[in-house]
Amino acid sequence: MKTKQIIKRARKLAKPFRVSKGKDFRLKDVDPNDTLEFTKEQDKPRAKEALTSGILALAELQDKLYAQDKWAVLLMFQAMDAAGKDGAIEHVMSGVNPQGCQVYSFKSPSAEDLDHDYLWRCMRCMPNRGHIGIFNRSYYEEVLVVRVHPEFLKKQKLPPKLMDKNIWEDRFEDIRNFEEYLTRNGVIVRKFFLHVSKKEQKRRFLERINDPLKNWKFSSNDAAERDYWDNYMDAYEEMIQETATKDAPWYVVPADNKWFTRVVVAAAVIETLADLDLAYPEVGEDKLKELAAARKKLLSK
Ligand code: ATP
Ligand code: MG
Repeated sequence: MKTKQIIKRARKLAKPFRVSKGKDFRLKDVDPNDTLEFTKEQDKPRAKEALTSGILALAELQDKLYAQDKWAVLLMFQAMDAAGKDGAIEHVMSGVNPQGCQVYSFKSPSAEDLDHDYLWRCMRCMPNRGHIGIFNRSYYEEVLVVRVHPEFLKKQKLPPKLMDKNIWEDRFEDIRNFEEYLTRNGVIVRKFFLHVSKKEQKRRFLERINDPLKNWKFSSNDAAERDYWDNYMDAYEEMIQETATKDAPWYVVPADNKWFTRVVVAAAVIETLADLDLAYPEVGEDKLKELAAARKKLLSK
């Protein structure tokens, strides 16, 4: 399939899951088990083929992004545990040149992190121009886990008078402004929420317990977080309502079927790159002369 066709298909696949205006977003409108027109049994191979050709198209676009060296792309991934963030990142980015890609995972903040404002540790990891930066978790944890567990906020050493009831609203506003700042500086921001159901998460946790090769992935703390499921869902919904904008949209991706999640994430990244005016730098008169001179010199010895 030609790149043009792949891009067209990617736009169609990504569109239903893109949230560019948060106001009317409702999480209940997204079914984690949704697979669009792909039926699980018959169309899974077709979806996998879409991913394979998508990965090739992505590699081509990324090569131009790198050569042009103007735009940077920041992709942020958020999800409940076992939703498949790691696998999605691994598969979707498998075709791109590692030299043009940077991945950072944000875990519980260190003492040094907590000694700074919350954006600090992420700001240090912004992608260079020409690069794709991937955040596996991000500053969005600051309005998710920190909101669900107020004891984390207490550890942030904020002056007490700044910890008032407006803190979440203030954070949303600061995040919106920060992303606008990035956009105005040529850093394209796209955010992904991989939306897994509570039932499918339970199935995946049990698989981690029952399969010795997956035991290392299981943490009882992750399972304990299930008690706070509804609080997390409320936090996710409000986060998306407050921070989905035209320039920095969220993609809310159904995550009960890993093969489908990956196809949609790849499609969203393809549409993001395809929307940029990517092109190889033009070779001007001077460069042509330089090339001709170099050829002559090389051939003369
Ligand atoms: P993941 O859970 O992302 O697949 P992991 O299991 O390898 O990765 P963990 O050690 O579980 O890594 O780290 C992720 C944990 O860090 C999550 O529970 C997340 O909520 C927490 N975390 C990330 N950022 C923050 C933050 N700013 N404040 C508090 N906790 C945070
Ligand atoms: Mg974890």
